[in-house]
Amino acid sequence: MYEYIMVRYGDLILKGKNQHIFRHNINNQIAHKMYGLNIDIEFQHDLIFIKLNDVDAKEVIDRLNFISGLNSYSKTLKCSFDIDTISQKAIELLNYEVHEKTTFKVETKRADKSINLKSFEISNLVSKQVLREVKNLVVDVRNPEKTLNIEVRNEGTYIFTDKIPGIGGFPTSTGGRAMLLISGGIDSPVAGYMTMNTGLEIECVHFESSPLTPIESVQKVIDLVTVLSKYAPSSKIKLHLVPFREIHELILSEVQESYIITIMRRMMYRLAEMLAKKNNCKAIVSGDSIGQVASQTLESLITVQSVVNSLIIRPLAALDKNDIIKIAKKIKTYQISNRPFSDCCTVYVPKRPVIKPTVERAEILEQSFDYQKYLKTAIKDTITIEINERKPINIIDKGFSIQEIFK
Ligand code: ATP
Ligand code: MG
Repeated sequence: MYEYIMVRYGDLILKGKNQHIFRHNINNQIAHKMYGLNIDIEFQHDLIFIKLNDVDAKEVIDRLNFISGLNSYSKTLKCSFDIDTISQKAIELLNYEVHEKTTFKVETKRADKSINLKSFEISNLVSKQVLREVKNLVVDVRNPEKTLNIEVRNEGTYIFTDKIPGIGGFPTSTGGRAMLLISGGIDSPVAGYMTMNTGLEIECVHFESSPLTPIESVQKVIDLVTVLSKYAPSSKIKLHLVPFREIHELILSEVQESYIITIMRRMMYRLAEMLAKKNNCKAIVSGDSIGQVASQTLESLITVQSVVNSLIIRPLAALDKNDIIKIAKKIKTYQISNRPFSDCCTVYVPKRPVIKPTVERAEILEQSFDYQKYLKTAIKDTITIEINERKPINIIDKGFSIQEIFK
């Protein structure tokens, strides 16, 4: 039925001095994400038209929903400017879309000023023919359920009804790169998605304690990053797997129970900063949201972040858990996060973690063991893999530790 998808950039993409970079970035992404589909893409200054040929509109829109910076889409028909032809197309479209009593109006936008009819005249003429031929339509110009849009442009006239919202935001990777701390939980993948949606490219770091924790918990992270990679411009994301078992065991044996999580987190941030610097990432991103659990009180966040100088981004800081879950469901990470496997933070969780840790106390506790050499070894033994949505990785049954699997 539909001939084109009309794609609109976000408003801000078309303003300011970065607009060339933004548009260029998005256009490349569209071409990349449409890989393998028999479509043609026409890039124009303010819009993009995807000619569907025989391809299903839904397939194209599903793929567009992985691109940040797009405002909305419409499934359109195209014809030359002629009232009778436009009316015929409009009748075809509305007969396809309208099945019960529906209030409607016609709205015309005229970019081609050489046409001697005014916008409202075009609307009136088309509306007359449409009302005669399409059953169930009732005019309501104030609050219609359906608007028939006619957009008259130099290269042709486009006819469509609904505007389907895109994911908005800014084109991913136009703002630089950040290192996402990713666990197998619900929050950090959502934080990763939001970070990409604001225009940053991400790399991911996961601290894994195999074989103390099961391989399935790393598989979970791989699967989460695979979902996130669909939002990356190249559909690829680097995942750094940092062997954390030795540090983990060291902390379990050396640190008083209530500070175990705090010290573990401090080690994670030290390592994350080292990796971020090594990989030219300008910030660290975490899935912390304030006040949910003991490790997320302001005192905890302060005590943990005091070990690094990097900018730390917490996209979820002020979000409600239900809102986080909504996003997790929308981006389809929720089901993966809910798989029941433990990671280093859920194995041997102390019964009474300190609610208000202090930097001073944490520093004193850390003086009793030499963690520096463990950090160096962990960085040296870090395994970096490329996650590519087009080449899923499965490590289940391949071994008991990450070192063994990727050696
Ligand atoms: P999540 O659902 O993301 O696990 P959470 O609410 O369970 O978050 P915590 O487990 O306290 O919270 O973790 C807070 C944040 O610390 C995570 O969102 C993540 O950014 C980081 N983090 C925790 N564990 C790890 C890990 N093993 N590897 C990398 N980052 C981690
Ligand atoms: Mg967690």
